Amino acid sequence: EPSIVWFRRDLRLADQAALLAAAQAGAVIPVYVLDDETPKHCRMGGASRWWLYHSLASLDASLRKLGSRLILRRGKVHEELAAIRRETGARVVHALHHYEPWWRNAEKAVAKTMQIVLHDGNYLAPAGAVKSGSGAPYKIFTPFWHALKDRMPPAHPSEAPAKLDSPEHWPASDKLDDWKLLPTAPDWAGGFREEWTPGEKGALERLEDFADRAERYEQCRNLPSIEGTSRLSPHLHFGEVSPSTVWQRVAAAGGSVDVFLSELGWRDYAQNVTLQFPDYGSKNAREAYDRLQWRDDAEGLQAWQQGRTGYPIVDAGMRELWHTGWMHNRVRMIAASFLVKHLLIDWREGERWFWDTLVDADYGSNAVNWQWTAGTGVDSNMFVRIMAPLTQSPKFDAAGYIRKWVPELAKLSDADIHDPVFPPQGYVPKIVPHAEARARALAAHDAMKAQA
Ligand code: FAD
Repeated sequence: EPSIVWFRRDLRLADQAALLAAAQAGAVIPVYVLDDETPKHCRMGGASRWWLYHSLASLDASLRKLGSRLILRRGKVHEELAAIRRETGARVVHALHHYEPWWRNAEKAVAKTMQIVLHDGNYLAPAGAVKSGSGAPYKIFTPFWHALKDRMPPAHPSEAPAKLDSPEHWPASDKLDDWKLLPTAPDWAGGFREEWTPGEKGALERLEDFADRAERYEQCRNLPSIEGTSRLSPHLHFGEVSPSTVWQRVAAAGGSVDVFLSELGWRDYAQNVTLQFPDYGSKNAREAYDRLQWRDDAEGLQAWQQGRTGYPIVDAGMRELWHTGWMHNRVRMIAASFLVKHLLIDWREGERWFWDTLVDADYGSNAVNWQWTAGTGVDSNMFVRIMAPLTQSPKFDAAGYIRKWVPELAKLSDADIHDPVFPPQGYVPKIVPHAEARARALAAHDAMKAQA
């Protein structure tokens, strides 16, 4: 009898342990289930849906080359898989481990009616496996990373199966276009199409391109005006390339790539935190912050979302995000800090906006980075350390970046563009002066402490 491979964010054929195990056992039914109900407020956002569409189309095309195909179903996972079992006689489900709380619940529901076998491979180490000497999971990144590094390098990635046997009867499948994952009116994805090639092939091309520049990563990664980072994040999020493949390829490129590898470690770390705190995307890890008086400021939130704060580096980042579905990490830190400290708006508003607009939107990584920025997390930047966006911008040489994303400022000199004394017509004045914003944030923090 055939077995089911339940694809989630592991949309690849190579180094995909669930697919390999199913292929070795006999006929394979590759399945993707779209469930928009169960994740509730974590329903997949707009940018992710655009990516998913193209990634699923690409996976189906690759499967067809092996004589197979991708079955698409919509609804609750355990109900859909049970229906496929009735349609085909398949009794075993193979899948890779994921740590989003809604998916862990779905696995339990599936296990009630079918045998489900979970494999590793979407992280460098199985979540929960990296523990301290006393057997406790780590809360802080640095010791986590040291312990993870001790287990590296990861095993060599396995190849894609050479062929896949089909079941006697294929179950019914939805049509991808009927899922309406792509934007129509307005079509905001023009910039996405220019920037990205979703799918396993696009991921491997990105990796090759980066491997040639990996050695310069350490010097260049904080400079948004140049392409110093890998831009692999959406490919890694959707699992179009495995982290072991990325590790092995970059390590083989030679040179000093440790800093890059430790960034991959952050990705594992985020899952390790989510496993310990499943509500990390919505609850302050430090409860004292439940008493912080965030401002209710719909206008300020909108100005931030649209890149109209009057702070050039913040506006450039927010517009890059809207246009391409991605933002440079240094600028993510500056823009996120601006929302939380300068506007004193609850980090969860920012987390939600990123969730909807990032092509790499990831439950663990997004929550961990937002809570880190806000100072509310288990491993945190302190709230009272307030980043000065106008100082950060020249420090990281962002003039070219601002010129690209904020055309109103394009004519200003490198010296003026970070903080224009006379903003050109068409560019907004600062939404709040830096000194005032800083004092307001510190006062709110003091008030929170006074209540303790
Ligand atoms: P590179 O610098 O080339 O790094 C390689 C890979 O390492 C990345 O592709 C990513 O998988 C991983 N990585 C790097 N930095 C981090 C990090 N700080 N945390 C976790 N993983 C990391 N990253 C996401 O993948 N999804 C998110 O939803 C997300 N939300 C963020 C929100 C905020 C407020 C901030 C400050 C950062 C967020 N990040 C998120 C982390 C980071 O900004 C991106 O992973 C990175 O910019 C992706 O670009 P890259 O692939 O060129 O990264």
